Amino acid sequence: MKDYIEIDNLIVFANHGVYDEEKKMGERFMISLKLYTDITTAAKTDDITKSINYGEVCEFVTDFTKTHRAKLIERAGEELAYALLKKYPTLSGVEVQFKKPWAPIGLPVDNVLVNVTREKTVAYIGLGSNMGDKKAYLDKAIERLNNDYCKVLKVSNYIETAPVGDVPQDNFINACAEVETVLPPYELLSLLNEIEAEAGRVREIHWGPRTLDLDLLLYGNEVISTEKLTVPHMEMAKREFVLRPLAEIAPYAVHPLKGKRVAELLEELEK
Ligand code: ATP
Ligand code: CA
Ligand code: CA
Repeated sequence: MKDYIEIDNLIVFANHGVYDEEKKMGERFMISLKLYTDITTAAKTDDITKSINYGEVCEFVTDFTKTHRAKLIERAGEELAYALLKKYPTLSGVEVQFKKPWAPIGLPVDNVLVNVTREKTVAYIGLGSNMGDKKAYLDKAIERLNNDYCKVLKVSNYIETAPVGDVPQDNFINACAEVETVLPPYELLSLLNEIEAEAGRVREIHWGPRTLDLDLLLYGNEVISTEKLTVPHMEMAKREFVLRPLAEIAPYAVHPLKGKRVAELLEELEK
């Protein structure tokens, strides 16, 4: 959906800055927004309550920017983006331009700005545990995946699976969750790692026993290829313990590299 409401150069006097004078004296910032939202219902009904009231948005932005001080406009812009997405559930994404036209640079420059885009993405998380109270670890992980930046939309049944690989270890409990998140992929991975750490996850033996394993299986239809993060998850198409719970909640989800839906991948694996 490409519709958006735009607010151009709202001027807010606030105290963001690295230097003491900036913090004390304050200065003018200019904020521009693109509010991505489906405007079709508002257009059809001609009803303000079916849209996002841009006057109200301007008031919110002014108040938020004055009361949430940051040193960097990077931070001020990102916090504002997240705050808007939280306040207006009908937003699918937001682009914030946080401008500092009177930045103390001492050289002639028109403008300095940071551009932050944050948008809601549906992602799929694979959960696994084969130590201690396995079900409780999965329950807790689901609870922690529900926060200001991430909402759990669906959870599969928990299934018991035999361990794969050469390490002798206890059976697993596996599940998949569908989440809608405003976190960019690496931030979502950090959240998963944080939740694993809270569950006392230690990485000693590769593919060894673990209290909690959270893998990012799919992130929208993005392909990410770095050592730290590969999306779709490298092994997902080969693993029945991933595809079975995933097919239960999202048989229609597409693996962007295989060009196939989860239901088809599972069917092929079961052949
Ligand atoms: P596997 O990845 O084969 O399921 P594992 O889950 O036991 O094995 P971990 O020790 O949990 O492996 O993770 C090893 C590294 O994999 C992590 O440090 C992480 O940075 C990286 N990684 C890459 N892509 C992903 C992904 N999609 N989801 C989770 N971790 C990933
Ligand atoms: Ca894993
Ligand atoms: Ca993992």
